[in-house]
Amino acid sequence: MKDIKPVNGQFAMPALPYEALGNVISKETLSFHHGKHLKAYVDNLNKMLPGSGLENLPLSEVIYKAEGGLFNNAGQVLNHAMYFEQFSNNPQPMGNRLKVMLERDFGSVEAFMKEFEQKGATLFGSGWVWLSADKDGKLVITQQKNAENPVTLGLNPLLTFDVWEHAYYLDYQNRRADYLTALWQIVDWQVVEDRL
Ligand code: MN
Repeated sequence: MKDIKPVNGQFAMPALPYEALGNVISKETLSFHHGKHLKAYVDNLNKMLPGSGLENLPLSEVIYKAEGGLFNNAGQVLNHAMYFEQFSNNPQPMGNRLKVMLERDFGSVEAFMKEFEQKGATLFGSGWVWLSADKDGKLVITQQKNAENPVTLGLNPLLTFDVWEHAYYLDYQNRRADYLTALWQIVDWQVVEDRL
């Protein structure tokens, strides 16, 4: 993954490189998700950093060392930055490098997608489903609650689907599984592979 560094001890709002994502995620959902939810996490993180002793560290190190509210807000900033960055209205297809790794570790790309969706659908409450690479380069799927990020497990995070209700409720109501299935249409696999 690409880490995010603060400027003068403060983190900038992660970009939203589109207004809507076809019929997969609406402009209304994105305006609340990015403009309100993520904005609040960034503002809270920047309020909590001064005096914490973690002011000038990259975000992954803040997450590794912080606890409580600082951990929650820092985690949510990194999680959302990765989530919004990996989608596109003109997504690039999966390259051979990642395809070979997924086939090696899950049997097939389809089997990986099915397990990823299933782990997103069965995560109880709020959280994130992640694809990461471990220290040996093996790909693993993890379910993580609330603001957790795989960097705390020593993993390199590659892809994430947000399963907090705020990510899908306006468009899909209670149909979390339908939201997860639809997201594959907008994943830019070049962005994912660049995180390897
Ligand atoms: Mn979210």
